[in-house]
Amino acid sequence: MENVFVSNHPLIQHKLALMRSVNTEPKKFREVVREITSLLLYEATQDLETVEVDVETPLARIKGRELADRIGFAPILRAGVGMVDSALDMIPTAQVWHIGLYRDHRTLLPVEYYNKLPNQVTVDICFVLDPMLATAGSATATIKILKDWGCKRIKYVGLIAAPEGVERFHREHPDVPIHVAAIDSYLNDLGYIVPGLGDAGDRQFGT
Ligand code: URA
Repeated sequence: MENVFVSNHPLIQHKLALMRSVNTEPKKFREVVREITSLLLYEATQDLETVEVDVETPLARIKGRELADRIGFAPILRAGVGMVDSALDMIPTAQVWHIGLYRDHRTLLPVEYYNKLPNQVTVDICFVLDPMLATAGSATATIKILKDWGCKRIKYVGLIAAPEGVERFHREHPDVPIHVAAIDSYLNDLGYIVPGLGDAGDRQFGT
């Protein structure tokens, strides 16, 4: 499917197996989330714009390049929080705009409870960070929030997706690339990805 990137990188696949294992405790789980996030972001940032800059080494002057775009990360609370530190390690100058959404049990629609985006858009490209693309309800709602804000380029970076989530996301936002480590078999009746890894928030935060 166009605009859907599943990384087959051996390091990512190795770490993904560790992350899925029911025997991986929260400390190790958080570590692997951070590592996979770095590797996926490395792939998702390969087309960022750069500009030429003058650099003086201890020996000579040369032309170097630096990032041109104003970059934002939009972690979706709560599970996306575990992806932020490694994303910031990769791009320390990025802005972080947390988005809080929960699903109303009656309507099943996402309800926004945290959003401090200013009126004017402040980034050129925004990476939505959210480990599990399950129903895609919160991911698609977040993309809409960012588009309404005026963000012109958006990418989604997650760990595991369900085919149902990818299908819906792609239908609603075909222009937004999806970067994940795996697309699993299906979404069960409780909204969990199978085989998945369980609840990404609980597994990170020991709840
Ligand atoms: N959210 C999770 O944390 N896990 C799933 O399997 C689906 C949604």
